[in-house]
Amino acid sequence: MATDNNRFQAIISHCKEYGFIFQSSEIYDGLSAVYDYGQWGSELKKNIRDYWWKSMTQMHENIVGIDAAIFMHPTTWKASGHVDNFSDPMIDNKDSKKRYRVDHLIEAKIEELKAEGKNAEGETLNAEMDNLLAANDYEGLKKLIEDNKIKCSVSGTGNWTDIRQFNLMFSTQLGSVAEEASEIYLRPETAQGIFVNFLNVQKTGRMKIPFGIAQTGKAFRNEIVARQFIFRMREFEQMEMQFFIRPGTQKEWYEYWKEERMKWHLSLGIPKEKFRFHDHVKLAHYADAACDIEYEFPIGFKELEGIHSRTDFDLKNHQLYSKKKMQYFDPEINQNYIPYVLETSVGLDRTFMMVISEAYTEEDLSTPEKQDSRVVLKLPPKLAPIKLAVLPLLKKDGLPEIARQIMNSCKPHFRCFYEEKDAIGRRYRRMDAIGTPFCVTIDHQTKEDNTVTIRYRDSMQQERIPLAQIKELIEKHIG
Ligand code: ATP
Repeated sequence: MATDNNRFQAIISHCKEYGFIFQSSEIYDGLSAVYDYGQWGSELKKNIRDYWWKSMTQMHENIVGIDAAIFMHPTTWKASGHVDNFSDPMIDNKDSKKRYRVDHLIEAKIEELKAEGKNAEGETLNAEMDNLLAANDYEGLKKLIEDNKIKCSVSGTGNWTDIRQFNLMFSTQLGSVAEEASEIYLRPETAQGIFVNFLNVQKTGRMKIPFGIAQTGKAFRNEIVARQFIFRMREFEQMEMQFFIRPGTQKEWYEYWKEERMKWHLSLGIPKEKFRFHDHVKLAHYADAACDIEYEFPIGFKELEGIHSRTDFDLKNHQLYSKKKMQYFDPEINQNYIPYVLETSVGLDRTFMMVISEAYTEEDLSTPEKQDSRVVLKLPPKLAPIKLAVLPLLKKDGLPEIARQIMNSCKPHFRCFYEEKDAIGRRYRRMDAIGTPFCVTIDHQTKEDNTVTIRYRDSMQQERIPLAQIKELIEKHIG
């Protein structure tokens, strides 16, 4: 079996070969840390987004969705703290000129120590790093790097610059240059679109606390160390929900949403052991409690989703900067207050990477007579890009016509795919590779008794079912 790194590389190649993910502007040699989703990738991504949207809005009566613009008034980012605080400590190696995020550099050393069986040393280093990061002690961090003899992977030296902060926001100009141009930012998170619309939604939707606003959309960060495929990109998509609550109730809601979000991930059929919570020691400038849900990617346990208790930080600051009251009158306690906020923030691309890593399976199907193998994406049927492949066994004898009828009756209800070329075994394998859970084959017997062969992707079992039952059977699995 492939090692995890080989497995990761195999998944990346598979994503490209089967139309899931391409490097952006590939014909110009690509743009670093930017990716395009292809014909099947965009379907899978949309299905994940829709599933999140439905679970958050339709299934929670007190959560509504919005779709705010990417551009926002520049003062938004002053109020949110991003202009002053949204930066990462970086360090450069003077010999290779390579730039590292300080926490990544030290974490790599921790992994190395653990791989050598020096777990205790790794833990100590981790704790020291967390403390220094929490205290913003850059001299201390530099000393930690030097004391632990951490070297640059390119030059192999420990010749480091001082640690500096780099803001991660992209900026651009609004209006033509001739006019008085004003600098605006590409949003680094979707959350602020929700905060600035808090009153609009609360009033027009007659929302009563506790209630939530959900949103999915693009966010942009000038990640200095962008790497690991779609795990860390410069343009990515978030699925966020801000839940507005009465001050003082944040602990209960924090626990509630931790559990609720974990349940969502588990509902994708992923085993419990693949997830863990990681509590933040260094809290972001807005949070009074925060944790990540981490998933065990082929590159190790890494952050998938953040759950943050944001207090009234954002609304209070928007009130301060906009001079508009961000208050809610709570009829139950007869009081005005600025609501507290509990946030769940998950990366759509990271969820995609999780789903595809979990689904990607290399199977050895060899028998004593014949060597054989297949690559199959065991995607949950509700997420699969194509639900049903309709395959006439032969391109003649009226079989394509029957297949076309099946297509016509099923395609208004779910995504179907028609194919009549190549041997049936090869067509099945192509469907396995893109994760199509069901294939039906139309043969001569179909003409006699109106039955088709249905083939199940994961078990490769085949059975005959009445043609009239196809739609119902598939809808049962994808519902
Ligand atoms: P990290 O520590 O990995 O940089 P973060 O803590 O800055 O992430 P948040 O600001 O909490 O991330 O954003 C919420 C979610 O958005 C993350 O859990 C992740 O799934 C996703 N996300 C953040 N940055 C990126 C990125 N550069 N590429 C892809 N997804 C991202």
